[in-house]
Parts: sequence; structure tokens; C-alpha cells
Amino acid sequence: MHIDTLRQRLRALGALPKHEQRVLRDWVQALPHDRGRRRPEHFLPLALREALPALDAELQGLARLISEHPGEDGSARLLVGLADGQTVESVLLPREGLCVSSQVGCAVGCQFCMTGREGLIRQLSSGEIVAQLALARRLRPVKKVVFMGMGEPAHNLDNVLEAIELMGTVGNIGHKNLVFSTVGDPRVFERLHALGPDEVKPALALSLHTSKAALREQLLPRAPRIAPDELVEAGEAYARASGYPIQYQWTLLDGVNDGEDELDGIVRLLKGRYAILNMIPYNTIPDLAFRRPSWDKAREIARRLHQRGVLTKLRDSAGQDVDGGCGQLRAREAKGRSI
Ligand code: SF4
Repeated sequence: MHIDTLRQRLRALGALPKHEQRVLRDWVQALPHDRGRRRPEHFLPLALREALPALDAELQGLARLISEHPGEDGSARLLVGLADGQTVESVLLPREGLCVSSQVGCAVGCQFCMTGREGLIRQLSSGEIVAQLALARRLRPVKKVVFMGMGEPAHNLDNVLEAIELMGTVGNIGHKNLVFSTVGDPRVFERLHALGPDEVKPALALSLHTSKAALREQLLPRAPRIAPDELVEAGEAYARASGYPIQYQWTLLDGVNDGEDELDGIVRLLKGRYAILNMIPYNTIPDLAFRRPSWDKAREIARRLHQRGVLTKLRDSAGQDVDGGCGQLRAREAKGRSI
């Protein structure tokens, strides 16, 4: 279900704009319709009142909790079932964050990512994206949403932007706390720059992973061919226009993108930029050839980058809010192993 379709259905049931907003707000914020003294029967149109229980059940069915897997850091990975039996993953992050998926599978095919191995299976509707937030809020409060789960949001741009608009309005998520994450696609920059002053403008995270164009083509084989320099230029323009620093994502792969040459490359690309470098040691996946560097090595890299003028945050991937961290629950489920 798309948000737009949902709005049309509400209108067909007699909802005025205030009713529409209220029903959407109750859904996205996981609020009961009958909270407070004024119950819906006091002011919702009759046809809408009568349709509400079935509609609520339908909305809850867009994203059902199949299983929850708590991490040591306060995060929890959720395996989420969709109405057609497909599954995606969401991650409850520490400090009231949530990582959502935008597609079932992904066409980018990053070599270090389990989701990338499947290829694209289907797009999520805007309703299914928002439903992950509604589901998470039934489990704990959420004040930040990052689009770093399964899928490449740039490949499902209309639905992701529709979901972001709803999350940033009736969903009550601060605009800078909505983080659109992408490997980089010219269409994303065009659309984000074209957002009007009254529209929700998300923050942007760009998956960089290496300063070398050739290596990036190997690691992200079906990402648009944008050289790291061009990507950073485009990112910088959006950072200046939006007022939010770009978050560059760097999955640290042992012996692949953690050498001296890459450190020099990062300094060349990011020093003096309105940006934060999130360096995330890879979370080793048994079926894939990449390895996680030691924490000491990662810490030393982050320290040296800091010293050389690049604002670097070293983050543990235990929270799985990291490209490549997702897809394992779904893969295990598909294999029928216990999770
Ligand atoms: Fe797709 Fe992200 Fe996985 Fe790359 S890391 S294949 S963009 S889900």
C-alpha cells in the first residue's frame, strides 16, 4: 500500500484533511485512536469509524514482527514479515534510532553484503517503509530513522521520499534525523536539491568505502559509475544547501581498504569538508571472503585520520546500522536454519 493510496481511501470514507492527518499520525506514532477524552466516535465520519478496525489490521499487516534479536549494545535486529510473505530487516538502534529497509534484496551487489547477493526481489511500497517505523514504535520510542537496511533507497526513490515526507511530518521525526543513505546516484542529488522549502529535507549518508575509483567499481559492481572525487563534490553541495553534514560511510575491510594509501586518499577527499566519516569495522559474514580488522587497528586508523583533520567516528557494527550488516537474518531464514 502506498501512502497516496491510503490517503485516497481515507478521503473516499469521508475523511476531511484533519481526520486524514489524525489516522495517519496514530498509525505512524503507534498511538491508540481512543487516547484522551475525545474518542474517534466523537468526531470521525461514520463510514471511517466503521472501516477503522479493518484498516488498522491491514496497516499492521504491512510489517509484522517475525523475530527479534537483541544485541549487547542495546540494539535489536528485527526480522519483519510483509503481507506477501517476503521478509526484510529493521534494526532498533541505541539512542532511539531505527534502521529501515527500502527494498527486498538489492541490485547494487556490493561484494561484502549478504543482501547484495540476492539481487533485487522487489521494491517496498511507501506504506511498507513507514510500517517499519510504526512496528518499531510499538516496541520502543524512535526519534531517528536511517535508510541503511536492505536495499538501495536511490533505486526506490519515489517511495522512499514519500515515506520520508510522512515520517518528517505526522511521524514527528526531526528532518535532520531522517538519514537517506545511498551509494550515490545523480537522481538522488537532483531530487534532494529540488525539494521545496516546505518539504522534508533529509540528511544524507554516502557509502564511500574506498578513495579509489577502480576498487569502488569492484566492491560496488552495479553502483552508478561516480568517481569518489565527484561523489564528494556532489555531497558537499548538498551539505552546504541543506545545512547538514554528509555522513560518509566506510566499511573497514581488513587488507582491502585500510592501508596507508587509503588514509592519504581519505584526507585528500574529506579534509576541510562539511562531513563526518563513519568508519565501521566489517562484521564478518561466514559465507563471504572479507574479514574484519582488529579493533586496535581500526582505532589507530580513526585516531590518525582525526589527527590529519578528518572528523572520524569509529563505530562498532554490533548495532548493524551499516551497509552490509543486513540481510543475514533473512538469508538464514531462507535457508531454514534456526535464528
Ligand atoms: Fe545494496 Fe547496501 Fe547491500 Fe550494497 S550494502 S548491496 S547498497 S543493501
